[in-house]
Amino acid sequence: MVVGFGSCGIELLNHANLLKNKKVAIIEEKNEGGTCLNTGCIPSKYWLRASHLYKSLPSYKKFGINVEGKISFEEIKSNMLKFVANIRQNLIHKAQSLGIEIIKGGALLLNEHTLQVNDKTITFEKLIIASGSRPIELPHLKFNEKILSTDTFWKSINQNDKIIIVGAGIIGIEVSFMLQPFKIVKSMVDLAPDILSTFHLPEEVKHILKQKIKEMGIKIELATSVKSFANDKVELTNGQIYDNISKVLVAVGRKPNTSWLNNIVKLNDKGYVETNELYQTSSKHIYACGDVVGSNLAHAAMYQMQFILKHMFSLQTSALPLCYPPIIYSDPQIAWCGTFTSEVRTIKFSHNPTSYLYNVGEECFANLYLEEGKVKGILIVHPYASELIHIFLPFINKQLKWENEYFAHPSMSFSFRGFNR
Ligand SMILES: Cc1cc2nc3c(=O)[nH]c(=O)nc-3n(C[C@H](O)[C@H](O)[C@H](O)COP(=O)(O)OP(=O)(O)OC[C@H]3O[C@@H](n4cnc5c(N)ncnc54)[C@H](O)[C@@H]3O)c2cc1C
Repeated sequence: MVVGFGSCGIELLNHANLLKNKKVAIIEEKNEGGTCLNTGCIPSKYWLRASHLYKSLPSYKKFGINVEGKISFEEIKSNMLKFVANIRQNLIHKAQSLGIEIIKGGALLLNEHTLQVNDKTITFEKLIIASGSRPIELPHLKFNEKILSTDTFWKSINQNDKIIIVGAGIIGIEVSFMLQPFKIVKSMVDLAPDILSTFHLPEEVKHILKQKIKEMGIKIELATSVKSFANDKVELTNGQIYDNISKVLVAVGRKPNTSWLNNIVKLNDKGYVETNELYQTSSKHIYACGDVVGSNLAHAAMYQMQFILKHMFSLQTSALPLCYPPIIYSDPQIAWCGTFTSEVRTIKFSHNPTSYLYNVGEECFANLYLEEGKVKGILIVHPYASELIHIFLPFINKQLKWENEYFAHPSMSFSFRGFNR
């Protein structure tokens, strides 16, 4: 039995071979596909791709291509919603074709072997808790049709809106970049003294992002918060007033969906489900993965589900502690993984001829962090950092040494030759 058809649940469908001759059901109370598909990774990356394509139109000229582009907010929005609905339908069909039952409703754990859904009692041999997380609401900014969370944002946002984003974290930054062509975001407000306060990123990276955000005409208000939002007026605790604001997006973090567990499995002091390194909870036949254990990235959720299935069916008995790269899909993108040690090698991408072809800005760089030759961490600032980071993950996760590595020429990765000594 799996509770939650989000990223973890989706991964389950990719391991049908392990589930043959097993009775499997997924319980889902909302939309199949969970946060990532419906209100997270996919809608945001759809918008970001549209904005990025639009922004890159002027660069076509250097290749002799003359295009005039018009961008339509309404078309992007409706195409994105259709795209998401289509993937959701495919997921439902895939589950059905694999003989996996989808039970619609909210699950409630009654004891270590029994769940309740819609007044029906279901017993299970093994359970995977994959119930994810939900946006945090602020006491003075209760969610409604004008105060949006990332759950409601995608359908509620309109071309004529002027918004303030509360929270200068990854989500706030990504939304600023994706709405850039429409000048919808007026300001980003954060209680912390800097953007991305929960991440220990070098000052240089935050500086690049702040510059880009300012260039988009978005004001960054730090060490302050929204005091009130009424009659289209937002007042900040630092005294600043913004008029003609139609909506506020609150993106200050997420909290795990655990109330349905009735304290039957242990939670840690941060409220996440506590697991051992094998993703088993305090009851060994009950596993947990994804946002509900605090991993907060779709790829981590999926990898954990894959491990759980292999462990459950005795195909893998130990899990490597992996580093999962967070990525900011800004322009340039920021991707990093591992630890930032004192031995660091830096390269600039501007020396690479492909940088001209792919509009890689002068500011783009990468840092390789080493300890006794072994790769401990990587940080990449590049328009395609979300792809380039993968070169380094096996080095970090398998604790490999950086030797004289080679890369095809010409390619964006060719720049990493600069890490050789
Ligand atoms: C705006 C935004 C952008 C993001 N972008 C990225 C990105 O680019 N890359 C990335 O890696 N991550 C991204 N994330 C994070 C990513 O979406 C999550 O880490 C991922 O979805 C977690 O997957 P999950 O399976 O743990 O939980 P979820 O996807 O949240 O799924 C949990 C499911 O469980 C259901 N559920 C909860 N309780 C019950 C119950 N009692 N009974 C039945 N069903 C229940 C929920 O309805 C939900 O569908 C983003 C998040 C947001 C909000």
